[in-house]
Amino acid sequence: MLVAVLLFWNYQERHQEILNAQNHLVDVTQKSLIHGFANNAELIFENVIDKPFYQQRLYEANTADEARRQELRDEIFNRLFPLYNSMDKFKLKQLHFHLHNNDSFLRFHRPNKFGDNLSEVRATVSYVNRTGMAVQGFEEGRIFNGYRFVFPLFWNKKPVGSVETSVSMKVIMDAMARELTGKVSFIIRRDIVEAKVFQNEMSNYEVTPFSDDFMYEIGLMHLNTRLQFAQVLQAWSEQQTLDALNSDQVTSGLVNVNGQGYMVSLLPVRNAISHKVVGYMVYFQEDEKSLAEMAKFFLAFFLIITITALVLYLLYLSRRNEKELKQSKQALRVGLQRFEKAQQISQLGTWEFDLTSEELYWSDQIFRMIGERPQSFVPTYERFLSFVHPDDRENLDFTFRYALAHGTPYNIKHRIFRSDGSMLFVEEECEHKLDNNGVVVRSIGTMHDITEMVEREQKLERLGERYQALVERLPNLVYCYSWEPNRRWKIDFANASSRFYTGQYAYELLAKEVEFLQFIHPSHVERVRQHIFSAVEAGKPYELEYRVKRPDGTELFVSDTGQKVLDENGRLQIEGVMTDVTAQRRALDKLQKFIDTQKSMVILTDGHLMSFANQAYFDFFGIDRARSTETSVQRCICDYFEQGEHFFDLTKMQIEDRHWVDAMLRLSSSDRNVAIKNQRGELMTFAVEISQFDERSFVISFQDISSAFLEKLMWRQKASIDSLTGAYNRHFFDLSITSFIKLVRRNKKKTGLLMLDIDHFKQVNDQFGHAKGDEVLRQLCALLKNNLRESDLLVRWGGEEFLIVMAVEDVISLNRVAEELRLNVEKHLHSLPKGITCSFGGTLIDGLHDIDTAIERADSGLYHVKAHGRNGYHFVESPALETNTQSED
Ligand code: GH3
Ligand code: MG
Ligand code: MG
Repeated sequence: MLVAVLLFWNYQERHQEILNAQNHLVDVTQKSLIHGFANNAELIFENVIDKPFYQQRLYEANTADEARRQELRDEIFNRLFPLYNSMDKFKLKQLHFHLHNNDSFLRFHRPNKFGDNLSEVRATVSYVNRTGMAVQGFEEGRIFNGYRFVFPLFWNKKPVGSVETSVSMKVIMDAMARELTGKVSFIIRRDIVEAKVFQNEMSNYEVTPFSDDFMYEIGLMHLNTRLQFAQVLQAWSEQQTLDALNSDQVTSGLVNVNGQGYMVSLLPVRNAISHKVVGYMVYFQEDEKSLAEMAKFFLAFFLIITITALVLYLLYLSRRNEKELKQSKQALRVGLQRFEKAQQISQLGTWEFDLTSEELYWSDQIFRMIGERPQSFVPTYERFLSFVHPDDRENLDFTFRYALAHGTPYNIKHRIFRSDGSMLFVEEECEHKLDNNGVVVRSIGTMHDITEMVEREQKLERLGERYQALVERLPNLVYCYSWEPNRRWKIDFANASSRFYTGQYAYELLAKEVEFLQFIHPSHVERVRQHIFSAVEAGKPYELEYRVKRPDGTELFVSDTGQKVLDENGRLQIEGVMTDVTAQRRALDKLQKFIDTQKSMVILTDGHLMSFANQAYFDFFGIDRARSTETSVQRCICDYFEQGEHFFDLTKMQIEDRHWVDAMLRLSSSDRNVAIKNQRGELMTFAVEISQFDERSFVISFQDISSAFLEKLMWRQKASIDSLTGAYNRHFFDLSITSFIKLVRRNKKKTGLLMLDIDHFKQVNDQFGHAKGDEVLRQLCALLKNNLRESDLLVRWGGEEFLIVMAVEDVISLNRVAEELRLNVEKHLHSLPKGITCSFGGTLIDGLHDIDTAIERADSGLYHVKAHGRNGYHFVESPALETNTQSED
């Protein structure tokens, strides 16, 4: 890059040098040319015109009238005409006298045109007349552009006017072209042309194609030359911005026009007076050398850049390769380590045998596999063979040699005895690299330890055999058939028991493509088919019982269970086990018959549905057993239980009971009685016996106790009634108070409790004897019973103490009853002459938990009365009532 920069600098410098030299050359050439013309003009002026003849005549002309002026004009013209004609030789053109006031006096080229004032249009003329000094230089004119040489004329040291000669632009251009052997043109600023030139002369000008600001004077050049200039300057302005058109210095440049090189120079042309640049002389010359040099430079430059880029790219490549090499080396090392590790884990060793050098390479794992330290010796084929199991050695050796001879790969399994004497199963795979002639040059192989796999396979095989034997020995029929729902269910497998179940050997079934449903009793086929079908569709195992007919005409009752499975080929199959339950079935039938002989009704139920009932049941309800539908049999017997004080019925169930059997089991066995109407509408009573059958169902028998029950009731009555008074005893109170309270609550009433005690009864006994006392007690009870309702309980609590339990609306009605009873006793118990009175205590029982405490309250009420004169009644409020009136269920 540095070289390129230096080269570029050098090129620039040289280029500039060439241009500078060119600038200098054209500048000097132009100046010397103009200088030459100026010299000629000066010579003519000094030697011919600046003479008294002309000085004096011009002096006169300034003041003379027009006629005299014409005489003077003619004199000058005639005398100088030969000179004017010879001026061509000096390439000078025009000879023009002006008066001191700048009026045109005599134009040799147009002698008849004079008298026009030039002050405004000819600055050189005004300048010379004003300053009295000669001037030379370019000035644009109304018709003509050129270099003008204007000299002052004096008469007696007084300025009298001026004389002018000039050289045309064309002459200078031609001279320059000749000197420099190139082409020259002239362009002039458009604004100057437009300000100076006569309107009728404007057609002599044409705007340049490369800049609107400049014009050509058409007459100066051929059309071809103009076009050529236009092309070159156009190219210049495109290739380099044409600053030269604004410059007041000579400017040169190298321009390329369609592969042709040109040296172009612009020479500013200045106005003689204002010294402003009014146009340019344009010079160009074909230049092959500079352009070729430039091209050479650019070629070199391009080459250097290319070479540099190439070098950089190569450097980059080598760096990258280096890096990649480093990385791949690292990767190779890691890879090798991994490879070794992988070999170890996968129990895979590799080996390579180079047949040309006869070198054998073993990976570490091969050493490990034969029980040696990795790379602890130089391996050889013979050494390897010595580790191979003697029985496998010959086969392996043959396989290897055959493969080498034919260049074919091989795969072989054999055994290896390791150094420590243990045995391995290995699998070897080998491939070869062949040369162009198909001869093996290198063998590459792997050795895979498959001991575990082989052992597992062997174990599985043994296990399989064992299970197969087990299945074969099973007394059940183990079967498998293909599951094609709408096709034949073809048997694919059956164990040895098929002989017993189907009368045919398993191989016969398979060979004949027997269908599973074929053995099922015709009356069961449809049910079995549908059952299995819907179970399989639902993805559930099936379990059902049916009859099987055997070829010898005998039948079996079987329980069959199976399910859908996929075989190893993804085909759907049904696998199942069939069990002969004929014996159980017969036993069950026998049991059924036995149960049917029972007089008692026996049913099997889960508490809700009935799954079995014996003959007595059907007889009792008058149902035809054979024609009974399943639903009628299964209706719960508990629905038939009649309500009654001493019988269980569904109203006596509690929330926690799952079903009626639970509720009955809570009762003592002597209370498990029910009343059911038979088919004739007679109410029969039964003692119920319950025993658990399995985890869900119960066997329940109903023993008819209709006759025994009344007797039992009587006994019960006796046990609960006080024999002296006929009131209930305490035992009965204890038994019945709970249900009494519940009953009262069910009727939305309250349980009132009264306790009464006969006043001064000791005295009765003392005065009238014990017998009389007993009579008083009897009469009191009779009187009380008379005044109580059937549903009220009168209980003999102690000697002459009684409890009365009754349902009441509220405290007021209880109090009213108590008061009535007290009055009745006082008024109507006339057992003794002096009359009998009783004291009463009363309270309300606030639920089951309140029984004992309520008795205490009634007692305290009673003793309150005793302490306050007797024959009265006192109510004691329940403390719970104040806070909670409905606290208990
Ligand atoms: P109070 O007004 O305080 O009750 O005086 P009271 O004499 O009645 O005293 P208390 O209630 O203590 O007396 C009970 C007596 O009742 C004692 C006993 O002799 C008598 N008695 C208890 N049972 C019988 C019975 O079955 N027959 C008879 N004739 N008397 C009985
Ligand atoms: Mg008493
Ligand atoms: Mg008493």
